[in-house]
Amino acid sequence: MQKTQWPDSLWRSTAEPLCDCPELHEDIETDLLIIGAGYTGLSTALHAANAIEQIVILDQAQPGWGCSGRNGGQVHGQWKPDLAVLKQLYPGSQFDAFIKILGDAVDLVFDLVDQHQIDCQAQRTGSIIVGNGRKAVRYLTEWSEFWAETGADVRLLDKHASTELIGTSHYDRSMFDRRGGSLQPLAYCRGLARACYERGVTIHGDSRAVRISQNGNSWRVFTDHGSVKCERLVLATNGYTDDLWPGLAQTIVPVASMLTATAPLPDAVVSTLLPQRQPVAEYAGVPAYYRVDETNRLVFGWRGTVSGEIGSLNTAHLRSRAVRLFPQIAGTQWEYDWAGYVGITSHQRPMLLRLADNVYAGLGYNGRGVPMATMMGKQLALSVTSQASAISAESPRAIPLHSFRRIGVSARIMSGHLRDTLD
Ligand SMILES: Cc1cc2nc3c(=O)[nH]c(=O)nc-3n(C[C@H](O)[C@H](O)[C@H](O)COP(=O)(O)OP(=O)(O)OC[C@H]3O[C@@H](n4cnc5c(N)ncnc54)[C@H](O)[C@@H]3O)c2cc1C
Repeated sequence: MQKTQWPDSLWRSTAEPLCDCPELHEDIETDLLIIGAGYTGLSTALHAANAIEQIVILDQAQPGWGCSGRNGGQVHGQWKPDLAVLKQLYPGSQFDAFIKILGDAVDLVFDLVDQHQIDCQAQRTGSIIVGNGRKAVRYLTEWSEFWAETGADVRLLDKHASTELIGTSHYDRSMFDRRGGSLQPLAYCRGLARACYERGVTIHGDSRAVRISQNGNSWRVFTDHGSVKCERLVLATNGYTDDLWPGLAQTIVPVASMLTATAPLPDAVVSTLLPQRQPVAEYAGVPAYYRVDETNRLVFGWRGTVSGEIGSLNTAHLRSRAVRLFPQIAGTQWEYDWAGYVGITSHQRPMLLRLADNVYAGLGYNGRGVPMATMMGKQLALSVTSQASAISAESPRAIPLHSFRRIGVSARIMSGHLRDTLD
C-alpha cells in the first residue's frame, strides 16, 4: 500500500521517531480490535490491556498521523460552551459528572506521562482562556466563579493582569486555570504507542480498514492485504472517520484547523511573550489558540479555509493575526505550517457510541481532545470489558442535513468573524 504522507509539522521534526508499525499481511484473530492509533485508540488499548489478553490496533497510516500528532498540544480543563448551555447539555447529576470528567481528564494525561515516563515536554504550568467584549467577559466571569466554588484553582484576571501574563493588551479578561498545561502532542502519542507495545498490544500501520463483516457474535475487519477476526471492536477514527461503519461519519463534522510556528524567538522577544509558557485559547466566534514551546517558537493555531477545509495550506491569515496580537514578533521567520481535521459534534458533547453488541466508537472532542480523547479511551476500555463508564454510551444519530455541512461550516465561520468584529 502507498504510505500516507505525514504533514510537515514542527512536531514531526522534533518528536523521537517510532519504528514504523508493520502493515497487516495475514488473517489473524484477536480479543479486541481497535481502529485508529491516536489518543483514543491507544488509550483504549492501554486501559484495556490489564483485562484483555490480545489487543490489535489498525491504522491507515502510523500512530499519531491523525489529529493526535498535529494538534496544538494544549491541555485545558475547560469545555467550550457557556455554563448555562453546558447545564442544558448535561441535565441534573450528569452535569456534575461531566465537570468531574473535565478535571480528571487533565490529571489522566499528566499521570500517564509520569507513569509511562513519556518524554514529551509536558509542562503543568496552568492554561489560559482569553476573551474580548461583553459576551466573553460574562463567559469568563461565570466560569471562573463556578470553578472557584468547586475548589478548583481557577482565577479571573483583569486586563492589566492578562497583559502581564500573556504579553498582549488585546484581551479584556482572561481565566487562569492552574490545572492545565501543554505537551508535544506527537511525542505524547508515540509514548502511548510505546506503552502499548510494552503491554503486548500489536499495532499494524499502513493498514486501512476497508470493510467489516459480522458472523454471529464475531466481526471480521478487512484491510487490503489481510483481516482481523475479533469479538470486540472499537472505532477510534474521530475527524478522519470514513464510511467503514455505516452512518458513523454522519455523526460528526470534520473542520480544518491550521497551525504555523515561528523560528525560535530571540531572548528579548520571548521574555515578553507568555514568559510562564501557558497555552492560550480564545473564547471567540472563530477562536485562535497559541503557546510558546520548549524551543521558544510561537505555535499559533486558527481556522482553515472559510469552508472548513485544509485547501492549499495557506497560513497567511494566521501569521498576520499573530503579528497583530504580538507586534514584537514582526519580521520573525515562520518555519512550519500544517493542519488537521477537528471532529466537531452538533451538540458540542464528546460521544461514546454503542454501535452494536460489543462494538463502540469514541469521537467528537470539539478541539479539546488531548485530555478528552485520552479520557474517552479509558471509558471505552471500561465499556468493552462490560464495566460502567463515566461517559454514558449513546446510539449514533446523524446530524441533520449532514451532506450540506460545508455550507453550514462556512456560515458559522462568517457569522463568528462578524461577532468577533462587533464585540
Ligand atoms: C490542528 C488541530 C489542533 C488541535 N489542537 C488541540 C489542542 O491544542 N488541544 C486539544 O485538547 N485538542 C486539540 N485538537 C483536537 C485533538 O487533536 C483531537 O481531538 C485528538 O487528537 C483526537 O484523537 P483521536 O485518537 O480520536 O483521533 P486521531 O488522532 O485523528 O486518530 C484517528 C486515527 O484513525 C485512523 N483511521 C481513520 N480511518 C481509518 C480506517 N478506515 N482504517 C484505519 N485507520 C483509520 C487515522 O489514520 C488516525 O490515525 C486539535 C486538532 C487539530 C486538527
